Amino acid sequence: MRLGLTGGIGSGKSTASARLRELGAVVLDYDQLARNVVEPGSDGLAAIAERFGAGVLRADGTLDRPALGAIVFADPAALKDLESITHPAIRALAARREHEAGPDAVVVHDNALLVDMGAHRVMDAVVVVDVPVETQVGRLVEHRGLTEADARARIAAQLDREERLAAADHVLDNTGTPDDLRAAVDALWASLTHS
Ligand code: ADP
Repeated sequence: MRLGLTGGIGSGKSTASARLRELGAVVLDYDQLARNVVEPGSDGLAAIAERFGAGVLRADGTLDRPALGAIVFADPAALKDLESITHPAIRALAARREHEAGPDAVVVHDNALLVDMGAHRVMDAVVVVDVPVETQVGRLVEHRGLTEADARARIAAQLDREERLAAADHVLDNTGTPDDLRAAVDALWASLTHS
């Protein structure tokens, strides 16, 4: 089974994903996959260097993320070009990992951009961890040390809460305690795996 797991930044997605891993799911962490596809020696990094120039590489051959970020966040066409390199590579790597997990695994695609990327359409079910925007801001400030302005800017750069929820087959409300969230994950897991 292929489960999509998503949620806005600070919603509690990582907490839910850690619980799913404890329950036996094979979790594909898309932040990690996104780093893997631009490792030194990868086709992805070569394509990025060809499109954006050697200025986006550090002396040690790794990707200079701030340099690349400065280019793509100022230029929507450049961002599209970057995504046309990275997204297919990420999808291919996820497919390979899923294959390695075998046919009986519950594979969780833990991806903050699941809906933004359109990847929710190929999942058997989509799980959205949900809190109001003010809760996201409060947790990012309190637990992650972001300024309120930075937290709001990062939230604004993602899909709207309503659009994400519209893609959900299952919503995990995380306005309670982390234990409440884990209990909700356990209940969802039981309903998905015992049917
Ligand atoms: P995400 O992966 O969606 O960005 P996290 O799971 O990392 O979110 O949660 C964001 C922050 O809020 C973390 O520091 C986490 O420990 C904390 N957190 C998560 N769920 C709750 C909760 N129910 N109550 C209080 N803090 C929480």
